[in-house]
Amino acid sequence: MTGSASTGKANSPVMFLKAVAACRCPSCGKGRLFQGLLTVRPVCEVCGLELAKHDAGDGPAVFAIFVLGALFVGLAVWVEFRFEPPLWVHLVVWPLLILHATVGAMRPAKAALIALEYRNRTGGFGSGSPRA
Ligand SMILES: [Zn+2]
Repeated sequence: MTGSASTGKANSPVMFLKAVAACRCPSCGKGRLFQGLLTVRPVCEVCGLELAKHDAGDGPAVFAIFVLGALFVGLAVWVEFRFEPPLWVHLVVWPLLILHATVGAMRPAKAALIALEYRNRTGGFGSGSPRA
């Protein structure tokens, strides 16, 4: 059962963004996507979509590494040249910021990839043949 997927409402950009921002089911936008920190629920509690079919893999981690890595390296270089802090400031500040930003970015990144898979019917949400 795919819930509201057959209505076309699930494919609207607004529904997609709401599902990603709130980490909700890509089909109905109401059911919670995660149980725990990053574990995807096997089935949507509202529409019954089999969420376990997703195949996000390492995609969210790769996005987080590329985006946050570029951001924090740039920030660290800027702070170094702008303020010239002692080395211990870098050793204390950056790991804490990176840890929080990474954990905070992983859920929306995983929700985005699952929603994209669902929207484009790829990964486990495909209409039969799995991706090559
Ligand atoms: Zn749902």
